[in-house]
Amino acid sequence: MNIDIKKTYQADVVVCGAGTAGAVAAIAAADAGASVIMIEQFGSAGGTSTLGLVTPLMHTGLEGNPQGSYVAKEIIARMAEVGAVCERGSSFFDPMMLTVILDEMFLERKIRVLYHTTIVGAEKTGNRLNKVIVYNKSGFAEVKANHMFVDATADCDVVVHAGLPFMQGHEETHINQPCSLRYMLENVDVDAFWQYLEEKRQRPHGEILPRPKNFDDGLGLNNEKHALYNVFVEAVEKGDLTREDHAYWQFFTVPGRPDCLAFNCPEFFDVPDVTDAEQLSRVQLEGKLRVMRFLRFYKKYFKGFENATVSMIAPMVGIREGRRAVTEHVLTASEAIRWKKFDDAVVRSNYPVDVHGYMLRNEHIEGEKDALPYYEIPFRALVVKDMENLLVAGRCIGTEFVAQASVRIIPTCRALGEAAGIAAALNTLDGKIVRAEMEKKGAEY
Ligand SMILES: Cc1cc2nc3c(=O)[nH]c(=O)nc-3n(C[C@H](O)[C@H](O)[C@H](O)COP(=O)(O)OP(=O)(O)OC[C@H]3O[C@@H](n4cnc5c(N)ncnc54)[C@H](O)[C@@H]3O)c2cc1C
Repeated sequence: MNIDIKKTYQADVVVCGAGTAGAVAAIAAADAGASVIMIEQFGSAGGTSTLGLVTPLMHTGLEGNPQGSYVAKEIIARMAEVGAVCERGSSFFDPMMLTVILDEMFLERKIRVLYHTTIVGAEKTGNRLNKVIVYNKSGFAEVKANHMFVDATADCDVVVHAGLPFMQGHEETHINQPCSLRYMLENVDVDAFWQYLEEKRQRPHGEILPRPKNFDDGLGLNNEKHALYNVFVEAVEKGDLTREDHAYWQFFTVPGRPDCLAFNCPEFFDVPDVTDAEQLSRVQLEGKLRVMRFLRFYKKYFKGFENATVSMIAPMVGIREGRRAVTEHVLTASEAIRWKKFDDAVVRSNYPVDVHGYMLRNEHIEGEKDALPYYEIPFRALVVKDMENLLVAGRCIGTEFVAQASVRIIPTCRALGEAAGIAAALNTLDGKIVRAEMEKKGAEY
């Protein structure tokens, strides 16, 4: 097939993917004075945190839960203004409002956003990326960066298109972490559901605790003591649920939506390659049937779901881990678990290693932990190996499989996006300069 390039776009910074990390990268780059083009395959920003319906921001495990990014602070403040976020250790938020607020921030900064546009190729000469090739309904176009490209596609698509090396899955098996198809229900009587949960909890004196405005809960196959455990066992025995449905079930209330619950399931444990479109299509197809099975189960066994309806099933499969770039420094499991510090650190975290469906592999990590209870991510983990103008941000930075299972949370991905956006705007690969600029703008560790 002949590729007929119809148009050339050019900006100081080209951000590939407008997801959790990419959106922040574009905003930070624009704030640092760069002209920015951002390319996104879907019609809204936020990626996994919006179209994947991942609604809570996990706690970083750092004292005071600093977000590590000044842009993240602005996003949260804007969300709070419209009642779309709440603080509960981890913060719950409304994914639809997040898409609106991100668009608002792009427009204010005059970021050129190319929605409905997919990156399908990349061209490099030596250690410089010349362009990415994109496709949309207008045909093919090329996009060039005066300074740098930020690959925030979550699976380092640009790295792959440029023919550069990457990693995928666990080092021994190359199998990816399990994925999920998240969904939201509306018309739920959340008070009645809380009352039902409290009755099942059978507190020592039969008391029913008052309902917090926002709350969450969940269980798996090993949580025999959970109030709903026997309900799930009964439903599996009667064929109303499967054992896989019982294996991972979790819900959250949604700030600003009083009749709504967001679910972190159904989870799929049998998708070895989450970059395979056929396997992802199966998750979408079977996932919808599993959502309907859950809905029938809630109506039959729980209280408060009599009028419940599905308000949304994620258009994006929730992918915990896919491909990871090979970068100047690859963060190891040992470094994350033993709280390693780096001279060129741009992000800190103490979120635990969260590998679904596997044993936590901490037991293989030997040696003392550092006295300060967090690890740092060096800027070199964002610099694609041997490349001068290609950075990665988000869950596809250079990490070992186990380290990625801690790095992948939204606050960390946002801070990584901010670091990449600032570096690209300033045209520097010096992590110390990048972190200093982040802090000057208000980022806190
Ligand atoms: C089921 C599940 C539950 C989770 N729970 C939590 C949680 O409770 N709290 C928490 O903090 N984190 C959680 N996480 C982790 C977190 O949500 C993700 O790791 C993080 O959002 C990933 O950010 P990212 O920027 O790397 O990728 P994404 O947000 O996915 O962004 C990638 C973007 O790139 C776009 N893109 C990809 N390829 C192309 C292409 N070729 N062309 C154009 N555009 C492209 C995508 O459409 C997307 O918008 C969860 C993840 C999953 C899957």
